[in-house]
Amino acid sequence: MTMAMPGAITRARPAASLRTRRVKKFLSYYRPYRLWLAADLAASCLIASTTLALPICTNLITRHLAMGTAASGAIATLGGVMIGLVALQALCTAFVDYQGHIVGARMEGDMRAELFAHYQKLSFAFYDRQRVGQLMARLTVDPLSLGELYHHGPEDIVIAAIKFAGALAILFWLDAALAAAILAVLPPIAVYAFHYNRRMNRALRGARDRVGDINAQVEDTLSGIRVVQAFANEALETGKFAAANMRFLESRRDGYRAEALFYTGMTAFTQLITVGVIVFGALAILNRAMSLADLLTFVLCVAILIDPIQRMVNLARLYQDGATGFSRFAEMLEIAPDILDAPHAHDWSPGGGAIAFDNVSFRYRDDTPHVVEHFSLAIAAGETVALVGASGAGKTTLCALIPRFYETGAGEIRIDGTPIRDIQLASLRRHIGIVQQDTYLFAGTIAQNLRYGRPDASDDELVAAAKNAQAHDFITALPNGYDTEIGQRGVTLSGGQKQRLAIARVFLRDPPILILDEATSALDNESEAAVQRALQRLARGRTTLIIAHRLSTIRHAGRILVLGEQGIVEEGRHDDLLAAGGAYARLYAAQRMA
Ligand code: ADP
Ligand code: MG
Repeated sequence: MTMAMPGAITRARPAASLRTRRVKKFLSYYRPYRLWLAADLAASCLIASTTLALPICTNLITRHLAMGTAASGAIATLGGVMIGLVALQALCTAFVDYQGHIVGARMEGDMRAELFAHYQKLSFAFYDRQRVGQLMARLTVDPLSLGELYHHGPEDIVIAAIKFAGALAILFWLDAALAAAILAVLPPIAVYAFHYNRRMNRALRGARDRVGDINAQVEDTLSGIRVVQAFANEALETGKFAAANMRFLESRRDGYRAEALFYTGMTAFTQLITVGVIVFGALAILNRAMSLADLLTFVLCVAILIDPIQRMVNLARLYQDGATGFSRFAEMLEIAPDILDAPHAHDWSPGGGAIAFDNVSFRYRDDTPHVVEHFSLAIAAGETVALVGASGAGKTTLCALIPRFYETGAGEIRIDGTPIRDIQLASLRRHIGIVQQDTYLFAGTIAQNLRYGRPDASDDELVAAAKNAQAHDFITALPNGYDTEIGQRGVTLSGGQKQRLAIARVFLRDPPILILDEATSALDNESEAAVQRALQRLARGRTTLIIAHRLSTIRHAGRILVLGEQGIVEEGRHDDLLAAGGAYARLYAAQRMA
């Protein structure tokens, strides 16, 4: 086991044991459904056995007919038996079709649930490098191919084995020479079948990848549709799409060609064998070496004999798809979450929430330069500190280190003297409120979004938080007040309104520590004033770290820090810093010019 390195995504474990571990993992999903699987397999056995019993009954009837010993009573009895067999087979088939699929679907569901839980444990560093579309595909599409494999796999193997062995046994029992001749032509058929099936699958997989390309293309165009239209570049986008669309068509053409050859070939082979059996059987009957009854049974059994080949070919496809899907799925699961609770981490409630950075260094990746280097800063409990500096100086990065969204490389961050690594993540994050420039609101009502801060908040608390955040008035003016749907299917809120909802959410949570990262930068002056008032109220009595783009908004901060290339280059109150005529004064002058 390798240790999870801070900031790195570890893909641990040596390759040799990887395969066994994955196979074990693959099989582990069967565990809760062992009994259902057993029933499914028993039913599969019955399906195969009844299929074989039918030609035997046919043989018995026709034999009696041919020998003139048939009595209507015996025929009626055999007919009854056959009807019973058909009924049993129908029941079993229905059971396998329904229950088998359900078990497969449940196992699929288990896999999805596991991956979803895993996704939530992965850190910002992971999500920095992933595309949401890909992550969704791992969760939705990949398990889909496995659900089929999980139940069809065992079923098909059982059915194919019994049918093949049974049909062969019947054929040999009836006429060993003819049976041997049929057996001899099966390998080339199997080779043909697997060959074209593989080509078909390759093309199918190609087509699926092309669908992925189309999706990515469409996602890109639609996400940027405002830019597309602003630049009047619709023709350009249409051209890009047409190219992806054409490649998709090409890959499907290959698939259909192979598919046509596969199915035509399989049908032709089956028919040729039947023709051969009829011709040679007829000759044998002429020579009194075979009875008409046996010939009929032979013809029936040939079809049963070919079926396992089709099944195994089908299974090979499921297996290939499933194996690819499973390794992609497992790869995701094997990514160890890099930010975890330390074994000794404890639940924690802070005092005032004093924050100390002690010689902290951090870089996003091992191959990029440090964003934060030997950084030290102490913020007293209840103090408001403003952080300013050029864009890219590392202000957001510093903020992200406090709730451990990223792990510091060297040095330590402490809250009220406790190193944050010794605190349970959930407990740490519960005590830190963050308001950023882009606010994310979930699909749902306003009330639901506010309660994201504290699910058990009462209606009164909800309204109080909204009032504190200067949001109550605009909420009550909406058509359904607090029950107004927002997001994709609901009303569209302005940037300032969304921001005030985000602030109300933090009010409800009531954390001792507050991080405001350019919370008002995207707002126009009017909404900024309202949000600013809300933020000031929110900051009262909390340890607050404000990052502000517009320096006018932090004039009143108790302490202003100017972050430069080498860490903090200046520190003081607004007026003092202006008088000093340093970096802050230059930043301020630059903004007044603009
Ligand atoms: P600020 O908030 O002061 O504008 P940031 O903290 O956002 O600056 O960024 C500091 C530096 O870190 C920049 O050079 C930026 O490119 C880099 N950076 C920010 N976020 C990431 C990330 N998720 N992955 C890699 N590099 C990043
Ligand atoms: Mg920033």
